[in-house]
Amino acid sequence: MKKILQDYSLQELKVHFEDLNIKMPRLRAEQVFKWGHEYARFSEMSNIPQELRTELADVYDDEPVKIIKEFISKDGTKKYLFSLADGNIIEGVLMKYKYGNTICVSTQVGCRMGCLFCATGLDGMVRNLTCGEILGQVLAVNRANGGSIASREVTNIVLMGCGEPLDNFDNVVKFAKIVSDNNGINISQRNISLSTCGIAPKIKELADLELGITLTISLHATTDQFRQKIMKIANAYSLAELFDAIYYYFSKTGRRIMFEYLLLDKNTTEHDARRIKSLCKGLSYHINLIPINNTPNTKIAPELKPANKAKAAEFWQALKDNNISATTRRTLGEDISGACGQLRRSKVDN
Ligand code: SAH
Ligand code: SF4
Repeated sequence: MKKILQDYSLQELKVHFEDLNIKMPRLRAEQVFKWGHEYARFSEMSNIPQELRTELADVYDDEPVKIIKEFISKDGTKKYLFSLADGNIIEGVLMKYKYGNTICVSTQVGCRMGCLFCATGLDGMVRNLTCGEILGQVLAVNRANGGSIASREVTNIVLMGCGEPLDNFDNVVKFAKIVSDNNGINISQRNISLSTCGIAPKIKELADLELGITLTISLHATTDQFRQKIMKIANAYSLAELFDAIYYYFSKTGRRIMFEYLLLDKNTTEHDARRIKSLCKGLSYHINLIPINNTPNTKIAPELKPANKAKAAEFWQALKDNNISATTRRTLGEDISGACGQLRRSKVDN
């Protein structure tokens, strides 16, 4: 198997190139690292001697994720199917906002967290993505949309596609570091949001790294009892343990915490609003209210009954009355199954 070019930091490439006895290893590594972030093929790396390009192409894979299909939604959202070297297929979504374009990338093939409301977990977990496979999604979509390093078409990243990022900790952390390297595509860590179902000890570990990324927590419930019904992870970590880790993250980074909160019939009472207030006391935070998107389980599980319009509006008002900053997220790309929780693993059978 070839090495994935985008798996490596600039420093690591320099060391490889020295080991390969390449002349001017530092310069060559810088050039190749840049080209890698342009998502260029070795054949396109015009300032690299032809012989060296051939040599490198034998060692490295320059295209760890290939766009095999693009779906364009009525609202301009684009969904991409990517194939990986081993035949697995993953998905990513590009959303257009006034302030820039946000890519939602996958971090695993499948997911083993098994949240009741989510399509990704239905098929279980197949494997982690490597750093280069996560980065490759960003770079492939930037290039496909006419972007480059100098003029980016992808400006923001959310780790909210298939998979649980904190269940693939090392690759995700490496990705956050390499994607923000100013020798490459240089997307600021402040423009990266990591969404987790709440693996408490990993949140603390992330806090200790003091990266600039935004932590987003999929909260979805204000009692352990209801959370356990819809999220298996709640059996491992109680809300008290989760919030202990969130406070730790906040104290280490000072960064505002984002929460995702599904608008369900059973979690949108005035009591829930008050419990959110007390759980989050002392944090700087914002609540994203998410209308639940259809997945196979949403039709059958009573816990997943959506809040109707009136109930959702009352809940929003209750949050406001408690001085809680909250917005309802626009659902983008639903017509192409690109909306939250609708991304599902597929595999090419050949
Ligand atoms: N594993 C991470 C990130 C991927 S899921 C996490 O769980 O946070 C991204 C977001 O989509 C999460 O907030 C998740 O709760 C939400 N989501 C999952 N299924 C959904 C559905 N059917 N409707 C709306 N949002 C959903
Ligand atoms: Fe995994 Fe997130 Fe889906 Fe839960 S919501 S199954 S953690 S991808």
